[in-house]
Amino acid sequence: MKFDAVYYEKDSLSYTLGKQLQEQFADLPWVPVESHNSIKEMQEKENAEFGKMKRNLIIGIRKTHRYTENHKVSDYLVPYTSSGCTAMCLYCYLVCNYNKCAYLRLFVNREQMLDRLIKKGKNSENSLTFEIGSNSDLVLENIITGNLLYTIPRFAEEGTGCLTFPTKFHMVDSLLDLDHRGKVIFRMSVNPQPLISRIELGTSSLQKRMEAVNSMCEAGYPCGLLIAPVMLVEGWQAMYTKLLEQLREGLTAKTQKQMFLEIIMMTYSYVHRAINSEAFPNAPDLYDSQLMTGRGRGRYCYRPEARAEAEKFLRSEIKRILGDVKILYIS
Ligand code: SF4
Repeated sequence: MKFDAVYYEKDSLSYTLGKQLQEQFADLPWVPVESHNSIKEMQEKENAEFGKMKRNLIIGIRKTHRYTENHKVSDYLVPYTSSGCTAMCLYCYLVCNYNKCAYLRLFVNREQMLDRLIKKGKNSENSLTFEIGSNSDLVLENIITGNLLYTIPRFAEEGTGCLTFPTKFHMVDSLLDLDHRGKVIFRMSVNPQPLISRIELGTSSLQKRMEAVNSMCEAGYPCGLLIAPVMLVEGWQAMYTKLLEQLREGLTAKTQKQMFLEIIMMTYSYVHRAINSEAFPNAPDLYDSQLMTGRGRGRYCYRPEARAEAEKFLRSEIKRILGDVKILYIS
């Protein structure tokens, strides 16, 4: 992965990971910043530079550790070792939080974050599942930092409950032989290949994602699939039918037997429209005034009728093509 420059908080270099990154990227310009949260030079850039901005690496110390309750596959969303990503999915939910500064930030205080998480699990009467990948893509991040190689065996050994994270990337080879003890739930996000190519810019192909989830399942990780986000663009029914057929053909019997599905409809926003129209003027416009409605604070979601139609269609096609696979939720 190629970066143009590193912006870093000076204190981050006193951490093990900070030192490692300093060596790894020694040939890049290193620019000191006061805080990873407000880099003036970045904030002043035009939306059109969004793609170029993603070629910078930001290194800092995570100071906010607030867990958010969640009632889907996990009990808590945990701010973990990174936020943002080098890919450029045109709907990326992180753009709502970070605007054009949705570049990859690495937080070097991973020991502190994992200590806290393990403690929280131990102090709970119930077995808790922690979602550690809601702010970034940890499989992508891991090829730079090795953070999953640090996290998975340590959690397996010391943690109670489970960790989980979703990904749109396939680089899982280094995870296969880790001691995970079944405590790490791996979730692969999929979409029809034509949408991956046009909308999920810079992510892995469907074929590679299927191979990755098969390998993780074979290595004993509990696995699930996210069909997310579902995009109701022209020809969506045929594309999603083909996706389900490809999953039936491409996923091993073992994966299909044990996997669960999560289905999430796309949401979009005014901020996405502004950035995408300037940064990717030739990309498809995901905003559809016929099918979408406002849901407050400049955000859009599909109208209830459109969602109901999509849900009915997907449930019936999943049943027809994949059989009785468990659908955890459609949201
Ligand atoms: Fe955002 Fe995930 Fe796409 Fe990265 S892979 S741009 S985090 S949606």
